[in-house]
Amino acid sequence: MNILEIKDLYVEYKTTNGISNEIIHAVNGVSLEIKKGEILAVAGESGCGKSTLAKAIMLLEPAKSGEIIFEGKNILSVKKDDLKNFRKKVQMIFQNPYSSLDPKMKIIDTLSEPLRINTKFSDEQIHKIIKNAACQTGLDEECLKLYPHEFSGGQRQRIAIARALVLKPEFILADEPVSALDVSIQAQIINLLKQLKDEYQLTFLFISHDLSVIKYLADRVAIMYLGEILEIGTKEEIFYNPKHPYTIALLNSVPSINKNKKILLKGDLPSASNLPTGCPFHTRCPKCMPVCREKHPDNIKLSDTHYVKCLLNFL
Ligand code: SF4
Repeated sequence: MNILEIKDLYVEYKTTNGISNEIIHAVNGVSLEIKKGEILAVAGESGCGKSTLAKAIMLLEPAKSGEIIFEGKNILSVKKDDLKNFRKKVQMIFQNPYSSLDPKMKIIDTLSEPLRINTKFSDEQIHKIIKNAACQTGLDEECLKLYPHEFSGGQRQRIAIARALVLKPEFILADEPVSALDVSIQAQIINLLKQLKDEYQLTFLFISHDLSVIKYLADRVAIMYLGEILEIGTKEEIFYNPKHPYTIALLNSVPSINKNKKILLKGDLPSASNLPTGCPFHTRCPKCMPVCREKHPDNIKLSDTHYVKCLLNFL
């Protein structure tokens, strides 16, 4: 059963360089489905639109068009009550645990705040839930009396995860949750997320540029480039049978994952304010054909779970 469906989502915003305004086409026609209890990872280079996609799902960035359907309702057009329900059931873990916690609030207040806003629980009930969330994330009760600056990066991310858990969410959107942490701490946080997912049947949309982490954690993987999903499939399909030249190049950029050096990633990501015509990857693709500069590729179905947007003939 799908918990979240995104249909033909577009997000754009204006920036200025002081002289003229530009429109950034951050998300361009993204459609995907996430099943209850799975971890779908979205991978791609920095600037590919994956964080904007996450913010649009959380309603932190307005969508230009499209649908975001959560448990059967399009949250872009629901009533206030349904939106309140959505905000309880969907929580986000941000990249930077240093800026995502209010430095002036004790941890007990940080963890109580979502419960005070969204529920009518008594102080006693709130304290019990908070203690439980702290325990689930490996924090001891003494931590609750302290301020964020008294913790390490890894502990702060545990606090951010505890805050995401207090409302008993069904869906967690994790945007690069370990990339700001020391490598030695990353594995602990990744294992904690995996353990929480199994224990509480949580669903995750996991945004990351780190393919090694994705390979360990994800059930399915979507590869994003210039605001589009170019390939999506199970972890096995993406890591052991990638079809899109961009996916292959991306995997080849991580030596520990892929020794096949046939396609290497060259050049920089083009500007999202001036998208290439035809295939978005054609300016960097070693397999580019004349038609690729003109025609935008449709999604080709390779299996029930594996889809690719490329004009090469895979069949
Ligand atoms: Fe490369 Fe053409 Fe496929 Fe785009 S459509 S990835 S340019 S071969």
